[in-house]
Amino acid sequence: MGEAPAFFEDDLQGDFPNGLLLKSKGCETAVNIGCNKTYVIGATEKESACTIGVRIFDKSTSKWVIPTVLGTKPKPLGGHSAIALDEDRILVIKGNSTSDDCFWFLEVNTAFVREQKTRFGTEVVAWSKGVIGESEKPIVISGPSGVGKGTLISKLMEEFPSMFGFSVSHTTRAPRNNEQNGVHYHFTERSVMEKDIKDEKFLEFAAVHGNLYGTSIEAVEVVTDRGKRCILDIDVQGARSVRASALEAVFIFICPPSFEELEKRLRSRGTETEEQIQKRLRNAKAELEQGNSPGLFDHILVNDDLEKCYKNLKKLLGLGECVKTTKIPVPKLVHIPLEHTVSKIDQKILINCTAPKQEKSAPNMFMLDLSSTKGGAPGRTRGLSIYAVEPSTNGVIGSEVLS
Ligand code: ADP
Ligand code: 5GP
Repeated sequence: MGEAPAFFEDDLQGDFPNGLLLKSKGCETAVNIGCNKTYVIGATEKESACTIGVRIFDKSTSKWVIPTVLGTKPKPLGGHSAIALDEDRILVIKGNSTSDDCFWFLEVNTAFVREQKTRFGTEVVAWSKGVIGESEKPIVISGPSGVGKGTLISKLMEEFPSMFGFSVSHTTRAPRNNEQNGVHYHFTERSVMEKDIKDEKFLEFAAVHGNLYGTSIEAVEVVTDRGKRCILDIDVQGARSVRASALEAVFIFICPPSFEELEKRLRSRGTETEEQIQKRLRNAKAELEQGNSPGLFDHILVNDDLEKCYKNLKKLLGLGECVKTTKIPVPKLVHIPLEHTVSKIDQKILINCTAPKQEKSAPNMFMLDLSSTKGGAPGRTRGLSIYAVEPSTNGVIGSEVLS
């Protein structure tokens, strides 16, 4: 199945076309990248049921290398195909799965992977899940504590529940009375969070008012996977980190009408001790200065009158009354059977499902277009599109698969 044959165990012999011979065991696939490296992808006997192994055979040294594997790994594949896209990435297509979970990219030499190779001092590969279609840019909302960020975000989510989703941050601070774990924050032990930061699971993190706060890559991805626009409520340091990351977002800074009013709101909320209020007010001074840093925020809104500020927020997000019912078409799920072959034409991948157990009317050939992909490890690779192809039209692309 796919470009490369399936292999099993790893007994090396010299004159195999790929420079290696593997004793067959089930569902491993080998892909050559450049002249020297062969990537073997699949579950081996030693690996547990929930991981997919990656091994690299370096032909220049005739040695196997086990790389550091980053990113969210695909669940074990009953069978898969794999094809080298270029010198940087391998496309892995899971068989017997649907298009919301069957396209995975194994990055072997992208900028992110090269950076991590230097950091870890080892071979590194990174998984990135492929997502059909694009979602709107996430919205980063920053501003000093007590300015009304949470209030504005709640209003937006209440009015447009199907359009927006909240990125649930991790924090080491204790929950407030009304706060639920997994809803307002993922309340976490510092040691656990520090380990996850080390393992590259966070898009950004910062020490804020004496605690650690951070946005996990997963927090943003789960919202966008549901077809919703993600809202991040993070401090200015976090906004700066996201600005420097690969994530494209809209950055909004919320200002109080005056410092006195900010203090009044913080006190009236009644969630912090006097000591914490003092700390937050001290930090607010620096945050207000940084909010005006050139090139950091795209929009600055003053939250004086709540309704007025909310109206302005909606306006800059392009939300009028009429958008309430607008629904973005969600790509229809395409089933890729276990038996399929793949071939590559520029940035397009032809997937031929040779033994379809689908309804007779269902197409059995698809074209996956990778020409507009965005993002990548350690997050998702977005912007894939899939088309049904009529075999009779000699590969002429049919209509895009949308519901
Ligand atoms: P943040 O999330 O930025 O820390 P909150 O949304 O919790 O701030 O708001 C802090 C307090 O200020 C809350 O009690 C909220 O009801 C109140 N508040 C928010 N916006 C306004 C406003 N425009 N005018 C008066 N009070 C406000
Ligand atoms: P609070 O303790 O009031 O919930 O939040 C304190 C500050 O932490 C707020 O300014 C909020 O925007 C910020 N914050 C919340 N989550 C994150 C996060 O994931 N990353 C960063 N950098 N800041 C966060």
